[in-house]
Amino acid sequence: MKYFGQDFLQRVSDSLNIADVIGSYVPLKKRGNRYWGCCPFHHEKTPSFSVSPDKGLYYCFGCHASGNLFTFVQKIENLTFPEAVEHLAEIAHIELPQEEISAEEQKKQSEMSAMYEAAKLAADYFHNCLTKTRMGEAGMAYFRRRHLTPEHIAYFKLGFAPPEWDRLFRDFTQKKQIRPEILRSTGLVGYSNGRYFDMFRNRCMFPILNLKGHPVAFGGRVLDDSKPKYLNSPETPIFNKRRLLFALYQALPKIRETRQVIMVEGYMDAISLHTHGVTNVVASLGTAFTIEQARLLKRYADEVVFSYDMDSAGQNATRRALEIAGTVGLKIRVARVGEGKDPDEFVNLHGGEAYLEAVRQAQPAMDYLLASLLHQYDATSLEGQQHILQEMFAVLTTRDDSMLINSYIRKMAQAMRLDEGVIRSEATRYVKKNHMHIYISPKENTENVVSRESQKLLRLEESFLRYCMQVRRAPSFWPDMKGYEYHSPFCSRLASIMEEFQESGQPLSEKLVQQKLEPEDMEALAALLMREEDDVSVPWEEFIRPLKLGSLQKAYKEHTEKANALAHEDPEASRQEMLTCIRLNREIQELQQKSSV
Ligand SMILES: [Zn+2]
Repeated sequence: MKYFGQDFLQRVSDSLNIADVIGSYVPLKKRGNRYWGCCPFHHEKTPSFSVSPDKGLYYCFGCHASGNLFTFVQKIENLTFPEAVEHLAEIAHIELPQEEISAEEQKKQSEMSAMYEAAKLAADYFHNCLTKTRMGEAGMAYFRRRHLTPEHIAYFKLGFAPPEWDRLFRDFTQKKQIRPEILRSTGLVGYSNGRYFDMFRNRCMFPILNLKGHPVAFGGRVLDDSKPKYLNSPETPIFNKRRLLFALYQALPKIRETRQVIMVEGYMDAISLHTHGVTNVVASLGTAFTIEQARLLKRYADEVVFSYDMDSAGQNATRRALEIAGTVGLKIRVARVGEGKDPDEFVNLHGGEAYLEAVRQAQPAMDYLLASLLHQYDATSLEGQQHILQEMFAVLTTRDDSMLINSYIRKMAQAMRLDEGVIRSEATRYVKKNHMHIYISPKENTENVVSRESQKLLRLEESFLRYCMQVRRAPSFWPDMKGYEYHSPFCSRLASIMEEFQESGQPLSEKLVQQKLEPEDMEALAALLMREEDDVSVPWEEFIRPLKLGSLQKAYKEHTEKANALAHEDPEASRQEMLTCIRLNREIQELQQKSSV
């Protein structure tokens, strides 16, 4: 990743007004000291998207999209951070810092562009072979059987690889003067026993495009029943199959619009759905769904709907995919389209509208998983129960969400006709065995209370930090908060930056704070500072007291629970916990008395 120094970032953001930049995408109107418009990140008719030029931040009250200038451009243009910086530098007419490029790096770059060029020429070559030569007739017949029109074939630039041993190799090296090594490193030709040969022969060709729309690899399908049915390009310097998906480039506009991706298994499934008007569809590249793909999709979408074949292989693939998508925080559902049919068959039989209806009806991932496990194992036998629980826990624990786990423990108890307490203790054992840090509440429903309380604390912390920013000084009362443990890692980072300001005697400002934080923290910062404004005439004690009180009460509760839990096993430890409770209680009362004075 390219690195830009803090000074450079500062120069870029100083020379642009955030309201002007955002205003070029969304009409904004000034009201008070903010600008307002309709949010570009969700559908709305009345403006709830606000921009503050003073703070250099934006925040949407509808969908909570938030951040600074760089975040905005990253999101709306789908760029990486360095790309967003380059984009903005260009708008501001600021020259990029010159980088030293080594001779080695230069060579690598020119090899890469030669590979891109070769892949592009190959896509044209296969496409011409399909559409303009007699060799391609067999391929044409195949695509026609799959109901594709010439327009569809042109849109996906489908092709055909000649049924000869080294036709492409000869044409490309002799007529197009491409070096054999380049063809080999692009995965277009292989080499053995002193001879080069074409990797793809007598196959229907599906070009795989990168995010810029350049062909970087191919999938080739046989015409008959020979194996492998699909052959994919190997990994090359321009193609990492863990980081791409088939038809993603074509699907991106619709994915951005709907914030939803439909994931299918086969290239033909994806193409058929696109041709029937369902255009937010991508296909895996013959590999299991990877964490990299999940992260990539997370950039554009909030939800993935899996629409895999419902045979047992498809079910297993779905389950693995669920574990992965959960870890990056994508919402997941599973669509079932007619028993035993793949999406391609289904959409050709029933049309795009019926398929979309099946997507709307898609089941939340966990419900799907539980249902399919109940179908697969005998929930009345001890062994079956163990299988079901283990597999459910494996997926549930990938999400760091104890509310979710607890609500599924209840569902599992009902569906399996088991005692909820039994499942809770099994879950606790699973978590311990796998060294996870997830809290499984031993009792029902207490979880909701705990989580409501930490939510409340979190809001108090945020409003305290916002207050400090609004009074624009590193607060003199900072020592009062020394040692306070913030609930959110972000609040804790922000607090330590404020502490630096206080130590150096500098006044606080939103813009200076932005410089000290990492780009990843901009969204949280904007949300914190833009969501609301506190009344700055309120004395600071009013902000600190509830925070301290809250954290003392939380500690009191935890120690009480521990004392109760240890009462039988370890009376001495339990007594120590009780002593802590008494001390905490005294502190709580002191604080409460102060506030009533
Ligand atoms: Zn919004």
